[in-house]
Amino acid sequence: MTYQHILVAVDLTDECDPVIGSAQRLAEAVGARFSLIHVVEPMAMAFGGDVPMDLSTLQKQQYDQAGERLNAFAARYPTLDVKDCHLTYGQPRQEIHRLAAEQKCDLIVVGSHGRHGLALLLGSTANDMLHGAPCDVLAVKIASKKTS
Ligand code: AMP
Repeated sequence: MTYQHILVAVDLTDECDPVIGSAQRLAEAVGARFSLIHVVEPMAMAFGGDVPMDLSTLQKQQYDQAGERLNAFAARYPTLDVKDCHLTYGQPRQEIHRLAAEQKCDLIVVGSHGRHGLALLLGSTANDMLHGAPCDVLAVKIASKKTS
């Protein structure tokens, strides 16, 4: 089984680097193309969907800032083409699955914090990604930061 197009989901935190690094090494090893996706979530969703004010300006700023951060990430990976960096708006699982199907990706790579207990009950993007995925999903373990 060899992959041809790997889609890496990035949350634009510094934790993305090991996730992108693993995907890039895998892509190089099997000769696959690789793309990035970041999904900007609707602010109203974060506030529980019932916000008595217009969030459109804030939302646009958030979208533009995410675009700048995504470009900055892409610049660190010379093998990555700008046209393979996708910024979309919506619910992460739906958008990542939609783009994976649209771009004919055969592997989605996500970071996984390996959460347990209450955090697991609340769910994680990596866990969520498995449900209804149009292709294989690889969860790259993100090392937990030590607090002093
Ligand atoms: P989480 O469990 O939600 O902290 O996220 C774990 C992983 O899910 C991240 O390392 C990314 O691979 C992916 N992810 C989380 N949020 C997003 C997002 N908004 N867009 C794309 N990927 C995301």
